[in-house]
Amino acid sequence: MKQVDYIIVGLGIAGLSLCERLEEHDRGFIVIDSGPNIATEVSGGVFNPVVLKRFTIAWKAKEEMAKSLLFYKELSIKLGVSIVNDTSVLRILKSAEEQNDWVVASDKIELAPYLSSEIVKNENPSVRAPFGFGKVKVAGRIYPSELLKAYRAYLQNRDLLIPEGFEHELLSETNNRIIYKGISAKKIIFAEGISGLKNPFFPKGPFLDGKEYFVANKGEYVIMRAPRLRLETMVKGPIYIIPLGEDLYKVGASYKREDTTLDITHEAREDILRKLRKMILCDFEVVSQEVGIRPTTKDRRPLLGSLVGHPNKVFFNGLGTHGIMNAPFLSRILYNHLENDLELPKEMDIKRCK
Ligand SMILES: Cc1cc2nc3c(=O)[nH]c(=O)nc-3n(C[C@H](O)[C@H](O)[C@H](O)COP(=O)(O)OP(=O)(O)OC[C@H]3O[C@@H](n4cnc5c(N)ncnc54)[C@H](O)[C@@H]3O)c2cc1C
Repeated sequence: MKQVDYIIVGLGIAGLSLCERLEEHDRGFIVIDSGPNIATEVSGGVFNPVVLKRFTIAWKAKEEMAKSLLFYKELSIKLGVSIVNDTSVLRILKSAEEQNDWVVASDKIELAPYLSSEIVKNENPSVRAPFGFGKVKVAGRIYPSELLKAYRAYLQNRDLLIPEGFEHELLSETNNRIIYKGISAKKIIFAEGISGLKNPFFPKGPFLDGKEYFVANKGEYVIMRAPRLRLETMVKGPIYIIPLGEDLYKVGASYKREDTTLDITHEAREDILRKLRKMILCDFEVVSQEVGIRPTTKDRRPLLGSLVGHPNKVFFNGLGTHGIMNAPFLSRILYNHLENDLELPKEMDIKRCK
């Protein structure tokens, strides 16, 4: 029987960031992942500490964003692949009133480190921004697909990845150990993203105000080619325009709650293109469309830890709309809970689903 400290099910950003914490502390683990990945792979990978609808600071961004960026930079060096792009975000301002709101926001103590107080004049004839832009100075983007590919190879070279579906019915527990197909582990960590809905051990039932706690939120992106757009910075209007290089841009994303289907829809494409036309004036050609499902929760907080009576079955889920930005610190919190007995913050503890 192979002995490890942890079995991790799922290699999206949740599973991956936890592998990093375990490796950092010399803990043994093995990952089981079926692929294809359905959230991390298609994610825009955007780091943005500011909620650009309301001009407020994103959850935990003040304490954690710089550390998260560092996490990805160190990972980039370790894997020998470029995965981080320190680009700013330009938010299109819709009116003189919004210009004013931006300046007021940039003066607030918690936002001042992130927002440039000067309104950036639009000099790009292909972008529709008569009131200019507000600039988020400290932002960035990682390349999730490149990261996943490199990390899979990294684990495979070390014999730490079993590329197949996990069969929950084959899991058993003996003498306080998890047993699964010839592997014995201290604990199992389910980092399955939205597939957590199919996990028989995952909490089920009415949780918050009589409604399901864990909710699928489908997101689609359009990939377009626009040679005259010439953007190097991410632009945010009703949607994001994310430069990919070679005149290609990732545009979106859409949001559709309680939809777990992975088909690409005409409805999302039309909605994205309608919003895009409000932002740009030049011609473009749609190259492809991508779809993913965000594992979101009703209260917008993650689901970490284990349920009462099942301490060896651990969950790392509910990463929501900011999973790329938040996974590095959530994995640290979960690690400290598992290995150093630190209590999970109540707002993140899966035990609140009761
Ligand atoms: C369209 C879109 C845009 C987004 N944009 C951003 C963004 O710009 N910035 C940001 O911070 N976040 C963004 N997010 C959110 C972020 O991508 C997610 O929060 C995050 O990727 C969730 O990661 P995860 O590891 O929990 O799940 P996933 O990435 O879905 O990974 C789960 C993994 O588990 C595997 N798995 C599941 N069940 C099993 C099983 N039984 N056996 C074996 N393997 C299994 C799956 O194959 C998969 O690889 C976006 C998400 C979407 C969909």
